[in-house]
Amino acid sequence: MTDHTNADTLRTPIVAVLGHVDHGKTSLLDKIRGSAVSEGEAGAITQHIGATDIPLDTISGMAGELIDPTDFDLPGLLFIDTPGHHSFSTLRARGGALADIAVLVVDVNDGFQPQTEEAIDILRRTGTPFVVAANKVDTTPGWNPQDGEPIQKSLEAQSERAESMLNENLYEIIGQLSDAGFSADLYWRVQDFQKNIGVVPLSAITGEGVPDLLTVLMGLSQRFMKEEMAIDVFGAGEGTVLEVKDERGFGATIDTVVYDGVVRNGDQIVVGGQEEPIVTEIRALLQPRPLEEIRTEKKFEKVAEVGAAAGVKIAAPDLDRAMAGAPVRVVRDRPVEEVVEEVKAELAEIEVDTAED
Ligand code: GDP
Repeated sequence: MTDHTNADTLRTPIVAVLGHVDHGKTSLLDKIRGSAVSEGEAGAITQHIGATDIPLDTISGMAGELIDPTDFDLPGLLFIDTPGHHSFSTLRARGGALADIAVLVVDVNDGFQPQTEEAIDILRRTGTPFVVAANKVDTTPGWNPQDGEPIQKSLEAQSERAESMLNENLYEIIGQLSDAGFSADLYWRVQDFQKNIGVVPLSAITGEGVPDLLTVLMGLSQRFMKEEMAIDVFGAGEGTVLEVKDERGFGATIDTVVYDGVVRNGDQIVVGGQEEPIVTEIRALLQPRPLEEIRTEKKFEKVAEVGAAAGVKIAAPDLDRAMAGAPVRVVRDRPVEEVVEEVKAELAEIEVDTAED
């Protein structure tokens, strides 16, 4: 029925940040956002509901000499705000993981901890490609911080003693990855990222090594995920519920990551619910208000549509029984019953999966 035949476009890969509590997930996301904003240009990042979109230009500005932007045609990276592990394990998209790629944050002094092991299990089970951020390198005794620099440049500024102490910790982590069944190495030594996990030493506080992390994420996505990123930008939207939240003036709303197609205000949608799928109609699509308008009373601004990949708050009647982790599907050009059956089947799959945890 659609007359847009050649609408395939490459969407932004969805990135999740996982790791043991206090190993630095929040700090890393803050650092990435903060450094991106200080790149200066307008549109350096776009804050979505539950996610941050960092365009290729900004990444390339942050990565400096590490990246040649002409090597890439993916539009950037969409970082989802870090959910707890239990919700991460239920964040699925058509049976696979919602995140296309993940960053596993490990405190370089602490090494693997229980939630690191849990995260590894989830990544293995969902077949999600990942890189390891060996965080807090700046806490190495005698460290000479090199704010925002690529890690190898920073290493050149370290004493032999500091570098060898860091190396000891890094090899410990590489050994732990190997015990968990993943062959790994420092990322600049990895030849084949499909066989080996890259370890990126960095600091979420000083930002050294962060350019490297962005470069590796961009490179991995471009090389191994390009085909999966090709979507029909006019197709019926598909997404996953991150969270169900009551919002003054809107009632129950769902914070949703849209990973395929487009969602428009007024669309009929089917959402996974606690007993059965909810069929409803979108009353409003909400995004955070841009920073410069923060003084206005309202937290959100209404948008007419959002295309993948994006985070958005959906307001619609009857969403109070919606479930985190459940699918959201726009009904377009096909019978609603068919979509309801699809959502039911997907929910059954999620339940089997969580029962195994
Ligand atoms: P999360 O629980 O994984 O989100 O961890 P947080 O980001 O909240 O970090 C836990 C603590 O470690 C906070 O006090 C951070 O300031 C600190 N921290 C995180 N990353 C670094 C780092 O790279 N260097 C140093 N020195 N401290 C860090």
